[in-house]
Amino acid sequence: VARNRGETEFHQAVREVLDSLAPVIAKHPHYAEGALLERIVEPERQVIFRIPWVDDAGNVQVNRGFRIEFNSALGPYKGGLRFHPSVNAGIIKFLGFEQIFKNALTNQAIGGGKGGSDFDPHGRSDAEVMRFCQSFMTELSRHIGPSTDVPAGDIGVGGREIGFLFGQYKRLRNSYDAGVLTGKGLAWGGSLVRTEATGYGTVLFAQSMLATRGQSLEGKRVAVSGSGNVAIYAIEKAQQLGATPITFSDSSGYVVDEAGVDLDLLKQVKEVERGRVADYVSRRPGARLVTEGRVWDVPVDVALPCATQNELDGSSAATLLRGGCAVVAEGANMPSTPEAIEAFQAAGILYAPGKAANAGGVATSALEMEQNAGRTRWSFETAEAKLTAIMADIHDSCVAAAEEYGRPGDYVLGANAAGFTRVADVMIAHGVV
Ligand code: NDP
Repeated sequence: VARNRGETEFHQAVREVLDSLAPVIAKHPHYAEGALLERIVEPERQVIFRIPWVDDAGNVQVNRGFRIEFNSALGPYKGGLRFHPSVNAGIIKFLGFEQIFKNALTNQAIGGGKGGSDFDPHGRSDAEVMRFCQSFMTELSRHIGPSTDVPAGDIGVGGREIGFLFGQYKRLRNSYDAGVLTGKGLAWGGSLVRTEATGYGTVLFAQSMLATRGQSLEGKRVAVSGSGNVAIYAIEKAQQLGATPITFSDSSGYVVDEAGVDLDLLKQVKEVERGRVADYVSRRPGARLVTEGRVWDVPVDVALPCATQNELDGSSAATLLRGGCAVVAEGANMPSTPEAIEAFQAAGILYAPGKAANAGGVATSALEMEQNAGRTRWSFETAEAKLTAIMADIHDSCVAAAEEYGRPGDYVLGANAAGFTRVADVMIAHGVV
């Protein structure tokens, strides 16, 4: 804590992992030798840099950029870029730390990294976003590469931003290294299903959890938070599996649509118009906008937090449980506070942490890298079948690890134990480096 003063989200993420590893270390004490735990919580490299750019009014703006290359035991550093005003070293570090174990769970050859900036794309013109991305990549390009570090999107970084970032990388390097970024457009090296992957994967994970109790998503009422990339495609897959998502949100409030979310309208408002949730309500009879309280106040069977960290606290968890919620699968990274997780586990409901439930996004990014390396393109069906198989495998690895360490059904222990042991075994094989 003293070495990483003020990095509260990072402390929270490390504590969650290390606390749950106690039964793993008790059974295999060699994982605590050779300062392995001290090494795994220390990033291999962190870069913090200035991003100067010129806004539409001709004023010079200065933002701060970050890239944390946390762990390369399993492959090139891999993890998204976040553009949001709340971004700081502690947030990027917690995300990078989580990413190590998430990527290990996918069983693909990817290490853990994360990056971003305190730049806020909301309300900025396309030209401003482009100039910002070009300045960001001018520095970032020194540190990344298809075999070194492969960034992708996250909050505030979607197809538009990845396009501007890739264009600048290509110009600086004079090299068409498609595999240097993932989440690319389909015409220039992107993979089908990458856009949908995180949301789809989260819902597939929830379906697998329900199957362990002989149930399915069919007929279930679902609360989703957020209305970005993850939320939209979680809603889409939940609808495909017969559930009824009735909520979504952004930082201005949440929407309740008891008839079920009109996905075409939501995509039009959020993906095409880059509007706010109120724009949905104004065109959808029966839907209401709520600006007080939390989306978790709505009684549902299944909750899918898909917005941001610590958006679901202990009191929201108690409200969800009172409303009959029996499944929580995290599309976002660390959306539930430690108090919320404790409440879900004490109640014995199905709860899956983001590092397992939302791993479909990075898994499909690794599939994008695979297609880029092979100079090939798979059909939607091929890519989706691979995603479905990977999510089933992650689910089963979590279940098996939880059983092995004596806590069947504990997906927190299962995800941390399965992810940690894969990374730790390779770190031991590589020696003290
Ligand atoms: P987007 O930028 O597409 O959407 C984010 C959504 O969450 C928006 O609706 C946004 O509302 C809302 N939101 C963000 N921050 C806040 C906040 N502080 N308070 C309230 N609402 C907020 O991001 P993604 O959908 O890509 O990411 C969502 C979550 O999923 C993040 O935790 C991310 O780390 C995680 N994730 C994403 C993956 C991906 O493939 N994209 C992969 C794995 C995890 P507003 O527009 O008002 O800010």
